[in-house]
Amino acid sequence: MKWLVLMLTAATTLMAQGEKVRIIAFGAHPDDCDIRAAGTAALWAKMGDAVKFVSVTNGDAGHQTMRGTELAKRRLAEAKESARRLGIEYDVLDNHDGKLLPTLDVREEIIREIRNWKADVVLSPRPNDYHPDHRYTGVLVQDAAYMVVVPDLLPDTPALRKNPVFLYYEDRFQRPNPFSPDIAVDIDDVIDQKVSALDAHVSQFYEWLPWVDGKLAQVPKDHTERKAWLKRTWIPKISPPVRASLVKWYGPQKGNAAKYYEAFEICEYGAQPDEARIRQLFPMLH
Ligand SMILES: [Zn+2]
Repeated sequence: MKWLVLMLTAATTLMAQGEKVRIIAFGAHPDDCDIRAAGTAALWAKMGDAVKFVSVTNGDAGHQTMRGTELAKRRLAEAKESARRLGIEYDVLDNHDGKLLPTLDVREEIIREIRNWKADVVLSPRPNDYHPDHRYTGVLVQDAAYMVVVPDLLPDTPALRKNPVFLYYEDRFQRPNPFSPDIAVDIDDVIDQKVSALDAHVSQFYEWLPWVDGKLAQVPKDHTERKAWLKRTWIPKISPPVRASLVKWYGPQKGNAAKYYEAFEICEYGAQPDEARIRQLFPMLH
């Protein structure tokens, strides 16, 4: 009996090794996915898995001097450059920045993206956030969960046979409930690649976001100094719950040594993975 169990485990592992994971990540703006998941995306891409980032708006309101089509074009080019640096794909949907609503039309755009990518894993923000575009992106992706398997909806785009695993990015919001780091990924090996992905979004990290925060004067002029500054200001420190999750997934030695991470919470509306399935979907967890 024990022998049979071992055989079955070995067969499952072999199957898992041949299977490429397909991941699609949604953000409201062209840079949101990068902030929360660029490191994990780089690790997946290095292992041959297929990653696509999707910005649900075109980012055409995110600047203090540029706007409209000109800004949307610049941000599309920045997103494509970030994707090139990470070894992934990046789509930007043509919805206006700052005006996103959870309509049926946008829900259908998202269902199509998930189906066409044949996603095993879908990432999104939680629907609790300071920015309405972020909140509604969370709602829209939640509303696509399960609907992606219903063939009668959008019959022109073949439905998935299995509901993917839906995961939320980390955020700092406490109400109605704080983020739970169910999965924590050690991104030490790709931290410079993550910083490089953020660095591709020049209009955001060096212009718009510091301007909003009244810190434009602090942005270094030199390119190397800029990247070091990005790393200091945008890469979060490890909280005790995240450390506990890193130790759970990597063991005490590696889990306690990790300096950089990204964390994800399992959404209740997608497939509910057990630990073995999570390790198949996140092959970097070892
Ligand atoms: Zn955003």
